[in-house]
Amino acid sequence: MYHDLERTYRGRFAPSPTGPLHFGSLVAAVGSYLEAQVHHGEWLVRIEDVDITRCRPAYEHAILRTLDCHGFRFDARVMRQSGRTATYQKALNRLFHDATVFGCACTRKEIGDSTLGADGAPVYPGTCRAGLPPDREARAWRIRVGEAVIAFDDGVQGRVEQNLATEAGDFVLLRADGLFAYQLAVVVDDAEQEITHVVRGADLLDSTPRQIFLQQGLGVPTPQYVHLPVAVNAAGEKLSKQTMAAPLDDEKPVPALWRALDFLGQSPPAALEQASLHEFWEWATIHWSLAKVPKTRTIAI
Ligand code: GLU
Repeated sequence: MYHDLERTYRGRFAPSPTGPLHFGSLVAAVGSYLEAQVHHGEWLVRIEDVDITRCRPAYEHAILRTLDCHGFRFDARVMRQSGRTATYQKALNRLFHDATVFGCACTRKEIGDSTLGADGAPVYPGTCRAGLPPDREARAWRIRVGEAVIAFDDGVQGRVEQNLATEAGDFVLLRADGLFAYQLAVVVDDAEQEITHVVRGADLLDSTPRQIFLQQGLGVPTPQYVHLPVAVNAAGEKLSKQTMAAPLDDEKPVPALWRALDFLGQSPPAALEQASLHEFWEWATIHWSLAKVPKTRTIAI
């Protein structure tokens, strides 16, 4: 039998259980699932509840049920970030060892006036980079980004380049409230689950250079990235619980799946909206083409 020397395709969907799934999250789920299907790969679901202050177990159950009702097939062994603190600590220790991590005493207010970075958050001005000011204690732990310029080729958005110092700054790995930051958790988890392809919303495009930087620091492989357009409302805001995005209807999955496929530029036939779940996925898998996905970060719906 022929054995491919390349690693098998392994994708994932990594929702945060801060609310039920809505149309915006369905788009990312559909895109990452179909990419995995057409590559005959695996598709894992990971519950990103690292920020336990914002997550609720009831939402996790609702999300998994909604995925199931919408016909996604995935391994029942779902990884949960909330149980992985010791692993994140090990990764942090490793970065410490390489002397790139430093304690930071600054409050949010103290850095609030700094210039804004690519994701709209203030770029850390470097106050504690060379040591804590006298009589101050470390609240959070940051990684020094130095002069790093990170570039990668995104499967939809094309070439992306970011100067970490000016567009992100030294970023937090362990937060002042003692929780590990998303950027560290996601990198450690993608590496441990041997994810080869990350297909997700373009709202995370500006985070990807920080994640690649951490992968380099930890000596783990960088997956291929594909950032799908994100659904926004008329005000340009990403659909979320905060913007009152309606939860998906577990009883009527096909119309929402159809809309997600249409949103992703696949031009599904109108009749498919009335099809069974099985027929929907059959058509979607046969016709899925990443090349047809609009090469834009946001689409207003
Ligand atoms: N947990 C993140 C979210 O729900 C997604 C992270 C990722 O896909 O890397 O927005």
